[in-house]
Amino acid sequence: MMRLEGIHHITAITGNAQRNVDFYAGVLGLRLVKKTVNQDDPTVYHLFYADEAGSPGADLTFFEYPGAAPGVAGAGMVHRIAWRVSSPEAIDFWERRLLRHGVSSERVEGGLRFADPEGLAHELGVSSAEDSPLIADHPDVPADLALAGFDGARAYAGTPEAGYGLLEEALGFVPSDDGWEVRGDQRGGLWSYDTPPERPGRAGGGTVHHIAWASTMDDHEGWRRRVVKGGARPTEVIDRFWFYSIYFREPSGVLFEIATLGPGFTADEPLEHLGEKLVLPPRFEAEREQIEARLTPIENPRTAVR
Ligand code: ZN
Repeated sequence: MMRLEGIHHITAITGNAQRNVDFYAGVLGLRLVKKTVNQDDPTVYHLFYADEAGSPGADLTFFEYPGAAPGVAGAGMVHRIAWRVSSPEAIDFWERRLLRHGVSSERVEGGLRFADPEGLAHELGVSSAEDSPLIADHPDVPADLALAGFDGARAYAGTPEAGYGLLEEALGFVPSDDGWEVRGDQRGGLWSYDTPPERPGRAGGGTVHHIAWASTMDDHEGWRRRVVKGGARPTEVIDRFWFYSIYFREPSGVLFEIATLGPGFTADEPLEHLGEKLVLPPRFEAEREQIEARLTPIENPRTAVR
Protein backbone atom coordinates (compact mmCIF):
# COMPACT_ATOMS: atom_id res chain seq x y z
CA MET A 1 0.00 0.00 0.00
CA MET A 2 1.22 3.52 -0.81
CA ARG A 3 1.99 5.64 2.23
CA LEU A 4 3.38 9.15 2.40
CA GLU A 5 6.61 9.25 4.44
CA GLY A 6 5.65 12.15 6.68
CA ILE A 7 6.74 15.72 6.01
CA HIS A 8 9.33 16.24 3.28
CA HIS A 9 9.90 19.98 3.76
CA ILE A 10 8.15 23.16 4.80
CA THR A 11 8.74 26.35 2.85
CA ALA A 12 8.24 29.81 4.34
CA ILE A 13 9.02 33.40 3.42
CA THR A 14 11.67 35.72 4.82
CA GLY A 15 12.28 39.40 4.18
CA ASN A 16 15.91 39.18 5.29
CA ALA A 17 18.13 36.26 4.30
CA GLN A 18 21.02 37.21 6.61
CA ARG A 19 18.81 37.51 9.68
CA ASN A 20 17.15 34.25 8.65
CA VAL A 21 20.44 32.34 8.40
CA ASP A 22 21.60 33.86 11.69
CA PHE A 23 18.47 32.53 13.39
CA TYR A 24 18.11 29.08 11.84
CA ALA A 25 21.77 28.11 11.38
CA GLY A 26 23.06 30.23 14.27
CA VAL A 27 20.50 30.09 17.07
CA LEU A 28 18.53 26.94 16.21
CA GLY A 29 21.62 25.08 15.07
CA LEU A 30 20.25 23.70 11.81
CA ARG A 31 22.60 23.20 8.88
CA LEU A 32 22.26 25.40 5.81
CA VAL A 33 22.28 22.56 3.27
CA LYS A 34 21.50 24.42 0.08
CA LYS A 35 21.90 28.05 -0.92
CA THR A 36 20.14 28.57 -4.20
CA VAL A 37 17.54 30.77 -5.90
CA ASN A 38 13.79 30.46 -6.21
CA GLN A 39 13.32 28.37 -9.35
CA ASP A 40 10.19 30.38 -10.20
CA ASP A 41 11.96 33.73 -9.57
CA PRO A 42 15.78 33.43 -9.70
CA THR A 43 16.32 37.01 -8.49
CA VAL A 44 15.80 35.91 -4.87
CA TYR A 45 17.36 33.36 -2.55
CA HIS A 46 15.92 30.02 -1.66
CA LEU A 47 17.63 28.79 1.51
CA PHE A 48 17.29 25.21 2.76
CA TYR A 49 18.04 24.22 6.36
CA ALA A 50 18.02 20.65 7.62
CA ASP A 51 19.94 18.08 9.62
CA GLU A 52 23.58 17.30 8.84
CA ALA A 53 22.67 15.04 5.90
CA GLY A 54 20.06 17.36 4.37
CA SER A 55 17.30 14.85 5.01
CA PRO A 56 13.64 15.17 4.14
CA GLY A 57 11.78 15.31 7.45
CA ALA A 58 13.98 18.08 8.84
CA ASP A 59 14.08 20.45 5.89
CA LEU A 60 12.80 23.98 6.46
CA THR A 61 13.25 26.28 3.47
CA PHE A 62 12.79 29.99 2.89
CA PHE A 63 12.14 32.12 -0.15
CA GLU A 64 13.67 35.52 0.42
CA TYR A 65 11.71 38.57 -0.65
CA PRO A 66 14.11 41.29 0.46
CA GLY A 67 12.39 43.79 2.72
CA ALA A 68 9.07 41.92 2.76
CA ALA A 69 6.94 43.04 5.68
CA PRO A 70 6.06 40.37 8.23
CA GLY A 71 2.85 38.61 7.25
CA VAL A 72 0.29 37.00 9.47
CA ALA A 73 -1.15 33.48 9.30
CA GLY A 74 -4.86 33.21 8.63
CA ALA A 75 -7.35 30.72 7.23
CA GLY A 76 -5.79 28.37 4.73
CA MET A 77 -2.25 28.87 6.04
CA VAL A 78 0.10 26.82 8.20
CA HIS A 79 0.55 28.74 11.45
CA ARG A 80 2.89 26.62 13.57
CA ILE A 81 5.68 24.12 12.98
CA ALA A 82 6.33 21.43 15.58
CA TRP A 83 9.79 19.94 16.05
CA ARG A 84 10.90 16.90 17.99
CA VAL A 85 13.41 16.95 20.79
CA SER A 86 14.44 13.89 22.76
CA SER A 87 14.00 14.86 26.42
CA PRO A 88 12.64 17.39 28.91
CA GLU A 89 16.28 18.49 29.39
CA ALA A 90 16.24 19.62 25.76
CA ILE A 91 13.26 21.85 26.47
CA ASP A 92 15.17 23.44 29.38
CA PHE A 93 18.22 23.86 27.17
CA TRP A 94 16.27 25.60 24.41
CA GLU A 95 14.46 27.87 26.82
CA ARG A 96 17.83 29.09 28.14
CA ARG A 97 19.50 29.23 24.72
CA LEU A 98 16.66 31.20 23.13
CA LEU A 99 16.61 33.63 26.04
CA ARG A 100 20.37 34.14 25.72
CA HIS A 101 19.78 35.10 22.08
CA GLY A 102 17.00 37.51 22.96
CA VAL A 103 14.17 35.20 21.86
CA SER A 104 11.29 34.93 24.27
CA SER A 105 9.57 31.58 24.60
CA GLU A 106 6.57 30.16 26.38
CA ARG A 107 6.32 26.85 28.21
CA VAL A 108 3.31 24.80 27.22
CA GLU A 109 2.38 21.29 28.31
CA GLY A 110 5.28 19.11 27.23
CA GLY A 111 6.85 21.76 25.09
CA LEU A 112 8.14 25.21 24.33
CA ARG A 113 6.76 27.79 21.91
CA PHE A 114 8.63 30.65 20.29
CA ALA A 115 8.75 32.57 17.05
CA ASP A 116 11.49 33.46 14.58
CA PRO A 117 12.45 37.14 14.10
CA GLU A 118 9.59 37.59 11.63
CA GLY A 119 6.95 35.86 13.71
CA LEU A 120 6.97 32.32 12.29
CA ALA A 121 5.75 30.17 15.17
CA HIS A 122 7.56 27.03 16.29
CA GLU A 123 6.96 24.51 19.04
CA LEU A 124 9.41 22.01 20.46
CA GLY A 125 8.00 18.87 22.02
CA VAL A 126 9.45 15.74 23.58
CA SER A 127 8.67 13.04 21.07
CA SER A 128 7.94 9.38 21.61
CA ALA A 129 8.24 8.69 17.86
CA GLU A 130 10.79 6.01 17.08
CA ASP A 131 11.86 7.61 13.81
CA SER A 132 15.61 8.18 13.62
CA PRO A 133 16.44 11.66 14.94
CA LEU A 134 17.52 14.09 12.22
CA ILE A 135 20.20 16.23 13.85
CA ALA A 136 22.62 18.89 12.65
CA ASP A 137 26.05 19.43 14.20
CA HIS A 138 26.49 22.75 15.96
CA PRO A 139 29.35 23.49 18.35
CA ASP A 140 27.02 24.99 20.99
CA VAL A 141 24.19 22.46 20.70
CA PRO A 142 24.89 18.97 22.12
CA ALA A 143 23.49 16.28 19.80
CA ASP A 144 21.20 14.85 22.49
CA LEU A 145 19.56 18.26 22.95
CA ALA A 146 19.35 19.31 19.28
CA LEU A 147 16.24 19.66 17.18
CA ALA A 148 15.57 16.19 15.75
CA GLY A 149 13.29 16.82 12.78
CA PHE A 150 9.68 17.81 12.23
CA ASP A 151 6.96 16.41 14.41
CA GLY A 152 4.13 18.08 12.51
CA ALA A 153 2.44 21.27 11.44
CA ARG A 154 -0.81 23.06 12.22
CA ALA A 155 -2.90 25.16 9.85
CA TYR A 156 -5.91 27.44 10.25
CA ALA A 157 -9.11 26.32 8.55
CA GLY A 158 -12.69 27.57 8.92
CA THR A 159 -14.32 24.40 7.61
CA PRO A 160 -11.63 21.74 7.68
CA GLU A 161 -14.26 19.01 7.12
CA ALA A 162 -14.20 19.96 3.45
CA GLY A 163 -10.76 18.41 3.20
CA TYR A 164 -11.28 15.20 5.15
CA GLY A 165 -12.09 13.15 2.04
CA LEU A 166 -8.95 14.23 0.22
CA LEU A 167 -6.76 13.74 3.28
CA GLU A 168 -8.07 10.36 4.37
CA GLU A 169 -9.16 8.68 1.16
CA ALA A 170 -6.73 10.04 -1.40
CA LEU A 171 -3.66 10.82 0.73
CA GLY A 172 -3.99 8.12 3.39
CA PHE A 173 -3.85 10.48 6.39
CA VAL A 174 -4.85 8.45 9.47
CA PRO A 175 -7.01 10.22 12.09
CA SER A 176 -5.17 10.69 15.41
CA ASP A 177 -5.98 12.49 18.70
CA ASP A 178 -5.59 15.96 17.39
CA GLY A 179 -5.71 15.66 13.61
CA TRP A 180 -3.94 13.12 11.45
CA GLU A 181 -0.82 11.06 11.34
CA VAL A 182 0.95 10.64 8.01
CA ARG A 183 3.28 7.67 8.39
CA GLY A 184 5.23 5.55 5.94
CA ASP A 185 7.89 2.87 6.37
CA GLN A 186 10.59 5.32 7.46
CA ARG A 187 8.97 8.36 9.05
CA GLY A 188 5.77 9.96 10.19
CA GLY A 189 4.43 13.44 10.76
CA LEU A 190 1.32 15.05 12.20
CA TRP A 191 -1.17 17.42 10.60
CA SER A 192 -3.83 19.44 12.46
CA TYR A 193 -6.25 22.31 11.95
CA ASP A 194 -7.17 25.11 14.32
CA THR A 195 -9.98 27.67 14.18
CA PRO A 196 -8.67 30.68 12.30
CA PRO A 197 -8.46 34.13 13.84
CA GLU A 198 -11.05 36.62 12.56
CA ARG A 199 -8.55 38.81 10.77
CA PRO A 200 -7.60 37.50 7.35
CA GLY A 201 -4.12 36.13 6.81
CA ARG A 202 -1.52 37.96 4.79
CA ALA A 203 1.47 36.33 3.14
CA GLY A 204 4.77 37.95 4.10
CA GLY A 205 7.89 37.44 6.17
CA GLY A 206 7.43 34.67 8.72
CA THR A 207 4.51 32.98 6.97
CA VAL A 208 4.50 29.49 5.49
CA HIS A 209 4.20 29.23 1.72
CA HIS A 210 3.58 25.49 1.47
CA ILE A 211 4.11 22.13 3.11
CA ALA A 212 5.49 19.15 1.24
CA TRP A 213 4.76 15.50 2.05
CA ALA A 214 7.30 12.84 1.16
CA SER A 215 6.84 10.14 -1.45
CA THR A 216 9.13 7.37 -2.61
CA MET A 217 10.38 7.84 -6.15
CA ASP A 218 8.30 4.91 -7.32
CA ASP A 219 4.98 6.10 -5.86
CA HIS A 220 5.11 9.69 -7.05
CA GLU A 221 3.04 9.30 -10.24
CA GLY A 222 0.59 7.20 -8.27
CA TRP A 223 0.12 10.00 -5.77
CA ARG A 224 -0.63 12.42 -8.57
CA ARG A 225 -3.37 10.11 -9.82
CA ARG A 226 -4.76 9.75 -6.29
CA VAL A 227 -4.86 13.55 -5.84
CA VAL A 228 -6.76 13.94 -9.12
CA LYS A 229 -9.18 11.22 -8.07
CA GLY A 230 -9.58 12.94 -4.69
CA GLY A 231 -10.88 16.04 -6.46
CA ALA A 232 -7.85 18.35 -6.16
CA ARG A 233 -6.02 19.78 -9.13
CA PRO A 234 -2.32 18.98 -9.02
CA THR A 235 0.31 20.53 -11.24
CA GLU A 236 2.20 18.30 -13.61
CA VAL A 237 5.29 16.70 -12.08
CA ILE A 238 7.91 19.46 -11.80
CA ASP A 239 11.62 18.62 -11.76
CA ARG A 240 13.08 20.54 -8.79
CA PHE A 241 16.47 18.96 -9.45
CA TRP A 242 16.90 17.75 -5.84
CA PHE A 243 13.44 16.16 -5.95
CA TYR A 244 10.35 15.89 -8.13
CA SER A 245 7.22 17.74 -7.05
CA ILE A 246 3.52 18.17 -7.59
CA TYR A 247 1.55 21.00 -6.00
CA PHE A 248 -2.14 21.38 -5.23
CA ARG A 249 -4.38 23.17 -2.76
CA GLU A 250 -6.28 21.12 -0.23
CA PRO A 251 -9.88 22.31 0.22
CA SER A 252 -9.03 24.63 3.15
CA GLY A 253 -6.62 26.48 0.90
CA VAL A 254 -3.28 25.25 2.21
CA LEU A 255 -0.79 24.71 -0.60
CA PHE A 256 0.37 21.08 -0.46
CA GLU A 257 3.27 19.60 -2.34
CA ILE A 258 4.23 15.96 -2.70
CA ALA A 259 7.98 15.66 -3.19
CA THR A 260 10.17 12.62 -3.80
CA LEU A 261 12.74 11.20 -1.38
CA GLY A 262 15.51 11.80 -3.89
CA PRO A 263 17.75 12.46 -5.72
CA GLY A 264 18.55 14.73 -2.72
CA PHE A 265 20.90 17.58 -1.94
CA THR A 266 24.08 15.63 -2.64
CA ALA A 267 23.10 15.44 -6.32
CA ASP A 268 25.27 18.49 -7.03
CA GLU A 269 27.43 19.09 -3.93
CA PRO A 270 29.44 16.73 -1.73
CA LEU A 271 27.92 16.15 1.70
CA GLU A 272 30.83 17.88 3.48
CA HIS A 273 30.28 21.11 1.56
CA LEU A 274 26.49 21.36 1.34
CA GLY A 275 25.22 24.93 1.35
CA GLU A 276 28.59 26.68 1.21
CA LYS A 277 28.33 28.05 -2.33
CA LEU A 278 25.47 29.46 -4.36
CA VAL A 279 24.16 26.46 -6.28
CA LEU A 280 22.03 26.88 -9.36
CA PRO A 281 19.94 24.22 -11.02
CA PRO A 282 21.58 23.46 -14.39
CA ARG A 283 19.05 25.43 -16.41
CA PHE A 284 20.08 28.66 -14.59
CA GLU A 285 23.84 28.06 -14.77
CA ALA A 286 24.23 30.12 -17.96
CA GLU A 287 22.83 33.17 -16.11
CA ARG A 288 25.00 32.73 -13.00
CA GLU A 289 26.78 36.06 -13.32
CA GLN A 290 23.61 38.13 -13.56
CA ILE A 291 21.90 36.10 -10.82
CA GLU A 292 24.83 36.46 -8.39
CA ALA A 293 25.07 40.19 -9.06
CA ARG A 294 21.50 40.73 -7.89
CA LEU A 295 21.82 38.77 -4.64
CA THR A 296 23.20 40.29 -1.44
CA PRO A 297 25.93 37.95 -0.14
CA ILE A 298 25.07 36.20 3.11
CA GLU A 299 27.41 34.90 5.75
CA ASN A 300 26.70 31.55 7.32
CA PRO A 301 27.40 31.81 11.08
CA ARG A 302 28.56 28.18 11.07
CA THR A 303 31.24 28.65 8.44
CA ALA A 304 33.56 30.41 10.88
CA VAL A 305 33.62 27.49 13.28
CA ARG A 306 33.78 24.63 10.80
ZN1 ZN B 1 8.42 22.88 -1.79
